[in-house]
Amino acid sequence: MRPQFFSWPFEYQHVCARRSAPIRLLSVGKPAIYYCDVHALDLPAGHRFPSGKYQLTRERLAADGFSLQLAPLASIDLIKLIHTCGYVDSFLSGTLSPAAVRRIGFPWSEGLVRRTLGSLGGTLAAAEDALRCGLGANLAGGTHHAFADSGSGYCVFNDLAVAIQWLRRDGRIRRAAILDLDVHQGDGTAHIFSGDHDVLTVSVHCRSNFPLRKQESHIDVELPDRTRDDEYLAALDFVLPQVLAFGPDIILYQSGVDALESDCLGHLALTHRGLAERDRRVMHAARSHDIPFVITLGGGYSRPLELTAEAHANVYRTAAEVFQ
Ligand SMILES: [Zn+2]
Repeated sequence: MRPQFFSWPFEYQHVCARRSAPIRLLSVGKPAIYYCDVHALDLPAGHRFPSGKYQLTRERLAADGFSLQLAPLASIDLIKLIHTCGYVDSFLSGTLSPAAVRRIGFPWSEGLVRRTLGSLGGTLAAAEDALRCGLGANLAGGTHHAFADSGSGYCVFNDLAVAIQWLRRDGRIRRAAILDLDVHQGDGTAHIFSGDHDVLTVSVHCRSNFPLRKQESHIDVELPDRTRDDEYLAALDFVLPQVLAFGPDIILYQSGVDALESDCLGHLALTHRGLAERDRRVMHAARSHDIPFVITLGGGYSRPLELTAEAHANVYRTAAEVFQ
């Protein structure tokens, strides 16, 4: 018997539109942004995950006039392109081991299942938008700590990996780059695509931060604690030409804002201005080379929550400027 969340009316149904011509960016104006925070995470009181940041960010963007759309729920078949059937089925049915649930960091609930499928579905829909008009944006996702057979660090399924595998399966892209600028290493992503020469994984992160046991991305830049704007942007200028030289058919951007000085988990010392410049350089690189670009949200743990919401909102504001 199919649980209710499988028959959600917004379940993602993609249309396979094979590209026949080189992608050219169109004038997209302010991008539609997919959200999924209406599916409650059902966290216990005192849980340290800042679940309120999603709504706060969405409200800021709505006030700015952005078009916001409820994310479709990802289909289970697509998730299994990357994740093992055992892991997927156990998560969906609430039968993961207590240790596996603890590693994810969220208590299991039907709300978590819906939220997870919406987060992933938002990235798939954004990838579709990116191939169609140059830019796609999800107000969730960037769940880079998820491995093929397990979740970790508030990440259940790896939306970045699933999106790429889906597009490759359907012959819509050949090469993809994941540019992960969250302050934590994209260890799950790195592990999934290790040895895959058609997917470039790039992670710029804080050396001393979670996860303690790092994986090997194709390009890792490990920054010391208290790194400030100038040093950070210099590191970015080092990796961006390598991303472009790889010749990706699409770039998936993990735009975590936990490198902010005010972040409780980050250890770095970037300003809002530095983060905005980071985003501008990344997006300008993609835009100027006509590479379809997908924004995923990633981490952000500043207190008060408004600092994180403002930083996340700035990512989409910058995109609206660069891709106008
Ligand atoms: Zn993070």
